[in-house]
Amino acid sequence: MGLTRKSTGADLNRQKNGKCTPEIKIAIAGNPNVGKSTVFNALTGMNQHTGNWTGKTVALAEGCFALGDKTCVAVDVPGTYSLTTRSAEEEIAKEILCSPDIDAIVVVCDATCLERNLILALQILALKRPTVICVNLLDEAKRKGIEIELDLLGQRLGVRVVGAIARKKDGLRDLLQALEGLLSTDKTVLCTSPTDDSAERKHPLSDKEKSDAGSQQDQPDFDKKSENNSTESEKNSDEESEEIVLSAERIYREVCRRKKSEDQDRDRLYDRLFTGKKTAYPVMLALLAIVFWITIVGANYPSKWLSTALFFIGDKLGELLRHIHIPEWLYGILIDGAYRTLAWIVSVMLPPMAIFFPLFTLLEDSGYLPRVAFNLDKPFKKCNSCGKQALTMCMGFGCNATGVVGCRIIDSPRERMIAMLTNSLVPCNGRFPLLVTLLSIFFIGGAVGFSSSLVSALLLTALIILAVGMTFLVSKILSITLLRGLPSAFTLELPTYRRPQICKTLIRSVFDRTIFVLGRAVISALPAGILIWLMGNLYFGESSLLAVCSDLLDPFASLLGLDGVILLAFILALPANEIVIPIIIMAYTSANMLTDYSSLFELKTLFVDNGWTIKTALCTMLFSLFHWPCATTLLTIKKESGSWLWTLAAVIIPTICGIVVCMVTNGLFALFGA
Ligand code: GDP
Repeated sequence: MGLTRKSTGADLNRQKNGKCTPEIKIAIAGNPNVGKSTVFNALTGMNQHTGNWTGKTVALAEGCFALGDKTCVAVDVPGTYSLTTRSAEEEIAKEILCSPDIDAIVVVCDATCLERNLILALQILALKRPTVICVNLLDEAKRKGIEIELDLLGQRLGVRVVGAIARKKDGLRDLLQALEGLLSTDKTVLCTSPTDDSAERKHPLSDKEKSDAGSQQDQPDFDKKSENNSTESEKNSDEESEEIVLSAERIYREVCRRKKSEDQDRDRLYDRLFTGKKTAYPVMLALLAIVFWITIVGANYPSKWLSTALFFIGDKLGELLRHIHIPEWLYGILIDGAYRTLAWIVSVMLPPMAIFFPLFTLLEDSGYLPRVAFNLDKPFKKCNSCGKQALTMCMGFGCNATGVVGCRIIDSPRERMIAMLTNSLVPCNGRFPLLVTLLSIFFIGGAVGFSSSLVSALLLTALIILAVGMTFLVSKILSITLLRGLPSAFTLELPTYRRPQICKTLIRSVFDRTIFVLGRAVISALPAGILIWLMGNLYFGESSLLAVCSDLLDPFASLLGLDGVILLAFILALPANEIVIPIIIMAYTSANMLTDYSSLFELKTLFVDNGWTIKTALCTMLFSLFHWPCATTLLTIKKESGSWLWTLAAVIIPTICGIVVCMVTNGLFALFGA
C-alpha cells in the first residue's frame, strides 16, 4: 500500500492561506473523530483544532493548498454519521457536500471501524461527485490487528482509495495524486457508482434528489432506532437505509481481516477504570485534583519571576518617560494604569494557563473527555438535559465563549439553550487566578509547599464540584420552567484511547489557547487599567469617582459579604474576568496604582487592612464562580441564540445564583458569629 511521507508543500500553502483565489474547492468529509481536521491541517498547513472526541469541529474551516499548478481550497466539514439531516452540523455537512461549488470530496474513514464509516462513504458516493476515499488511522488499525485491502476496497467502491496515517502526514502524497488525477479527468466518467449496485440503486439520497430534497429521512439503524413510520415513503427510506448498512457490512467483510490484539484488552481495562460504576467518579475527581495541583505548584515560581521581571521593566520604562519629561497625567495613565495592570495579568495568568491548558489538551487528546461525558450523562439526564452538556461544560473550563460555541454539538435546541445558559457557571481560565490567589492567601496562609499546594488543589476541586452541582441544579430548574421538555437520546461515540502527541499538544496549547486568552485579557485590561486610573484621579469634592461609585455599591455589596470596591471590580471587569483582582488592588492602594503585589503576604496585608476576612474571601470566590459572563461570552451567546432576551437570561441566571449563594454564606457567618 506504499505510504509516503510529508508531501504537502505546507509552507507554500501557509503563505497562500487567507489570500488565495481558489480554482477548485474540495470538501473533507467523514464521520466524527476520524482525522478530518488532521488531514485538513496536513494539506493546508493550518492549525485547525484537533481532538479525540466526537463533535469538536462545529464550525467550517477553509484553507488553501496547491494541487499541481492549481490552487485549491479545502473545507473541513463537520463530522457526520450520515447524510440524513438531524443536527446543525449534519445539516451543514449535507449542504456543503450537495453544493455545486464543491469540485471534489475526500471522505476520510477510520480504519479501525471501517464498517460504520462505509455507510457515510456509500451515501456520499451515491451523490455522484468526484470522490476519493482516504482510509486513515492505519497505524491504530495495525495495532489492533486490523488489516484492510485498500485496492480491493477501491474496486468494490469504484473509486480511488488511499491509505493514510494523517498524524504523521503519511499517505498525503497519494491523496494529492488521487485528487489531481480525479480533477484532470471528466468528472462524470470518474464518478462511477459503487460496484455493489444495490447500494447505488436503492440509495436514499439519489431517490431524494429526484423527488424532494427537503423531506425527512430516517437514520441508518446503527445510529438511531426507526421511528413509527406512517407513510409509504418513510418505509421505503427505511429499507433503503438498511440496504446501505448491509452493503457496508458486505464490503467490510470482503476487505477487512481482524486478528486478536492486546490493544483491545487494554482499552477494555481502561474503560472499566474510567467509566466503571465504582471507579468513574473517584478517578474523575482525582484527575481533576491532580491537574489543579500541578497547575498550582508549577505556576508559583514562574509567576514570581515574571512579576519581578515585568515590574523591573516597568520601573525602567517609568524612569525613561520621566527622563523625557512627559506630563504627569500621561505618565499615570501609561505606567500606573496600563502597564502595571498588564504586568499583573501576565505574571499571574500566564504560568497557570501555560500549565492548565496543555494538561487539559492531553486529557482531550487521549480520549478521556468523552468518558467524562459518558459518566455525567446520567445526572444530566436526571436534570432533563443532554449528556453532551458535560463536554461543553469541560470546554467552559478553558473559556466560556468556546464552551457556548461548542454547544452546537447538542442537537435539541432546548437542551442546547440549557447548556449555553449554564456554561458560565463553571469557572473559565480567567477566573482561576482569582480563585487560586484567594485560596492561597486566606485558606492556607500564603504558604508554598507540598501540603499547602495539595490543600489548595483540594479546595479548588471542592469549588469546582460546587460549580458542577450548580450547573445540574440550574439545568433542572430551567428544564421544568422556561425550557420544559424531556431529555433526548443521543449517540456518543467513545473513541479509542490514543497516545497524546505531547510536543504538538504543548505547542498548540500555548499558541492556540494560552496566547489567545492572554491576548484577550491584555486587550481588555488596557482600557480597564486606564479607566480605573482615571476614576481614581477624577475628584468630586473630597472623593474620587472610584470612591463615590464603590460607596454607592457598598450597602448592597455588604449583604453579599463583599464591599463596594469588590462589587465595582466585578462590574468593571465585564470585558475580561481576569482583571478583577488588579482592579481591587488598584482601588485599595491610595496611590491609585498597582505596586508589585506578587508577594502573597503583601497582598493579604493590603486586603486585611481594607477589612477583608475569610468570609470576604470566600464570598468573593463564590461571586467569581457565579456572576454574569464576560462580554465575549455574552456576545457569543447573542450570536448563537440570535436573541437578546436569552442573552439577558444568561446574565440574570448566574447572577441570581451568585447573589443567593453569597447571601446565604454571609448569613451563615453572621449566624455562627464567625
Ligand atoms: P476529526 O474530528 O475527524 O476532525 O478528527 P481529528 O483530526 O480531530 O482527529 C481525531 C484524533 O485522531 C486526534 O486526537 C488526532 O490526533 C488523531 N489522529 C488523526 N489522524 C491520526 C492517525 O493517522 N493516527 C493516529 N494514531 N491518530 C490520528
